Amino acid sequence: MTKQHRSIAIDGPSGAGKSTLARRLAETLGYLYVDTGAIYRTVGLYAFRAGVNPADGGAVIPLLKEIQIRLAYGADGLQHMYLNGEDVTGEIRHHEISAYASAVSAIPEVRAFLLAQQRALAEEHDVVMDGRDIGTVVLPDADVKIFLTAAPEARARRRWLELRERGQETPFDTVLRDLLERDERDTKRAAAPLRQAEDAVLADTTEKDLEQSLALLTQIAKEHLGA
Ligand code: C5P
Repeated sequence: MTKQHRSIAIDGPSGAGKSTLARRLAETLGYLYVDTGAIYRTVGLYAFRAGVNPADGGAVIPLLKEIQIRLAYGADGLQHMYLNGEDVTGEIRHHEISAYASAVSAIPEVRAFLLAQQRALAEEHDVVMDGRDIGTVVLPDADVKIFLTAAPEARARRRWLELRERGQETPFDTVLRDLLERDERDTKRAAAPLRQAEDAVLADTTEKDLEQSLALLTQIAKEHLGA
């Protein structure tokens, strides 16, 4: 099968600026932005509502057959997530859902359940897709692979500001501790752990603001796309 669409995979730990940068890069290139973390968050939200332990595969796996997840792009250009028909775009951003998403994402059956949906999007569109395993598992043949990272304190600070902007006052130490725990879980899990693909370009944004980071990513993308 010949590949008809271009794809850019952006992986990295939480708070590295992936979603904002991936969305802006997609806008610049005219590609579709796919936030795969939102898909895991939607499964996490379902587990939360069902009142199950999200780390317990025996409890989470049977729920999968009850879950229908749909992505749609609103007039605002934003990716909306629908869980069994309900728009949960805002709700999946709650702080406690982050831990649920991280826990359910370590279950291989959950990853397998979401894989086809992610690949289908890349078959149908030019995409900038961000996540943890896009360059390694979901789109191993991506045209461009970027591993985006920053120092943990810089990432926690961005996450803290983002939560505050949404009206969620969470102590900085809690945000940092949760971020380090998630890093640990995402990199140590057996199923599709977070790691830099061998052919990915490393981009460190610790010392860069948003516009500088975007310029770096755009340059890497254009170089590799031959644009
Ligand atoms: O990117 P975001 O923080 O929204 O992702 C939420 C969680 O979903 C992450 O902590 C990670 O455990 C999981 N995830 C994943 N694979 C992806 C995207 C997200 O395991 N491709």
